[in-house]
Amino acid sequence: MHQDVKEILYSKEELGQRIAELGAEISKDYAGESVVLVGVLKGAIVFFTDLARAIDDNVDVSFDFISCSSYGNSTVSTGVVRILKDLDRPVEGKHVLVVEDIVDTGTTLHYLLGNLKSRGAKSVRLVALLNKPERRKVPVDVDYIGFTVPDYFVVGFGLDYAEQYRQLPYIGILKESVYEEA
Ligand code: 5GP
Repeated sequence: MHQDVKEILYSKEELGQRIAELGAEISKDYAGESVVLVGVLKGAIVFFTDLARAIDDNVDVSFDFISCSSYGNSTVSTGVVRILKDLDRPVEGKHVLVVEDIVDTGTTLHYLLGNLKSRGAKSVRLVALLNKPERRKVPVDVDYIGFTVPDYFVVGFGLDYAEQYRQLPYIGILKESVYEEA
């Protein structure tokens, strides 16, 4: 375990098992359909690649990526979200499944889901590896959830602190001393 991690919340094996279940559920729901998986950079990238490979070949899957930056402090209910890197292709008339690492205050996803719907997508759904409902400030419907987590700052499996820890194969709670020192 990394020295900055206090506790492992979900091991590599637990994540693998849950992602396989999510893939099976998504495969059933989209059987015979085409869907654009929209990965939210950068945190969702590890989850995205595992999830994509857990979706059966009876679903016609394509990939696209978007990057958002959230401004405003966490005590404000609606932050300003800016798109830093937009999708490569239009989603009009397509089923879209947004793939996110974690839904926290909901600010980013509330904006993003509304934005994608306004582009005329046939449907827009959300799959999040982690959900922190205690922290929600803006409502977000999460269609598929990996795990519901308490209000800890977690890292690993794509999630960072100051761009570090993304490569850890598990989800762990970051020691408070790491961000207190910063
Ligand atoms: P929201 O807009 O829902 O408040 O924020 C979502 C984003 O905040 C996530 O995509 C993620 O980048 C970041 N975030 C929220 N909670 C955590 C956490 O516990 N750990 C890490 N590493 N990032 C988090």
